[in-house]
Amino acid sequence: MTSLSFSCDCGKTTWVLRNATPKTATRAICYCADCQAFARHLGSDTTLDSNGGTALNQCNPADIDVQTGAENIALLRLSPKGIFRWHTSCCNTPMANTAHTPGVPFTSLILAPAQADVGSVLGPNQALVNVQAAHGHNAPKATKGMGRLVRKFILRAINARLNGDWKKNPFFTSDRSPIATPRVLTKDERTAASARS
Ligand SMILES: [Zn+2]
Ligand SMILES: [Zn+2]
Repeated sequence: MTSLSFSCDCGKTTWVLRNATPKTATRAICYCADCQAFARHLGSDTTLDSNGGTALNQCNPADIDVQTGAENIALLRLSPKGIFRWHTSCCNTPMANTAHTPGVPFTSLILAPAQADVGSVLGPNQALVNVQAAHGHNAPKATKGMGRLVRKFILRAINARLNGDWKKNPFFTSDRSPIATPRVLTKDERTAASARS
């Protein structure tokens, strides 16, 4: 089984995506303002591409294993109802976005910390979403692959619910609590993170 290895910038926290193939992957680039604000708040200069896009891979949470530094995993919400945005606390490397409950088995792994050529493992990018917030030279103007993204998410979620895989989620404890206490950005922090420099 092919795995894709990830490491935070300082190397203390490492995680792998198992079962990593073009068939299981749904790669997407999200240009939404919230993904951009998340990267900016963390001060991550490797996450965003020149158009403000974040490279993601939607996958089954059960396929993600944290190998070292699990105690460094931290949780951020941009607003009180915002999605769960996971990162490392050792060096503020973004990791993944998830729903706020493991009952919705949805994870978008952020691909920037991958330690290998992502394309050779997961295949080409398949979707461009939230392009209205893209900016810069040659910014994409049209959304691409949204139907496929939603379809594959639903299939993956149904499968995980049926085979019990949804209970294996590295970001939640067995009693369905997040492994880290969510920190919600203050309004000022959110405003600062939303401002494009
Ligand atoms: Zn680190
Ligand atoms: Zn986004």
